[in-house]
Amino acid sequence: MRILLVEDDDRIAEDISRALTGAGYVVERARDGERAWFLGETEDYVAVILDLGLPRVDGLTVLRRWRESGNSTPVIALTARGSWSERVEGIDAGADDYLGKPFQMEELLARLRSIIRRSAGRASSVATIGRLALDQRTRRVLLDGVPIDLSPLEYRLVAYLMFRRNEVVSQQELVENVYGQDDQSSNALEVLVGRVRRKLGAEWIETRRGFGYQMPEKDS
Ligand code: CA
Repeated sequence: MRILLVEDDDRIAEDISRALTGAGYVVERARDGERAWFLGETEDYVAVILDLGLPRVDGLTVLRRWRESGNSTPVIALTARGSWSERVEGIDAGADDYLGKPFQMEELLARLRSIIRRSAGRASSVATIGRLALDQRTRRVLLDGVPIDLSPLEYRLVAYLMFRRNEVVSQQELVENVYGQDDQSSNALEVLVGRVRRKLGAEWIETRRGFGYQMPEKDS
């Protein structure tokens, strides 16, 4: 099974490469985003391990271009340590999983097995909570199978809350991850939450006064 490893750091790439080869994969490596994009478009891989910080073209751009052109090869994004926004952007751009650096090789291998297994049924890009489904590839939210017309900001809000399902997310964290910066007022966020509640139903976003918002896990 061929894996595309996209990593510009030679030392990290060699470590990963050794672990993958030891686990029986065939590894092809790209050092920059341009080469990675080209290989992903022209060759067949069972999965891609994609560092997001890359020379020439960054990993997020590469991932978005693949997904836009219909390439659904499962991707694990390697993100900078502790960067919430990078993880969310990675998932938003169509990553199937992510791993923050530094990580244990065993964990990378386990996640790789998991996304390869899931990709067999291609269910991996759709997250669901009960009647609510989020399709990361088409960037659509469906309620009872019916697409809901959401703006990009509204989609990002739903995607982030689904991603952190059953956890209380503070207003500040939401502002950073939905707007990509923290100079938005909490008023703007409240207005956005209100619009999404009107479209989906108020029960999907609970207010935890003084703490933030929460999307409850529902029984399907
Ligand atoms: Ca890098």
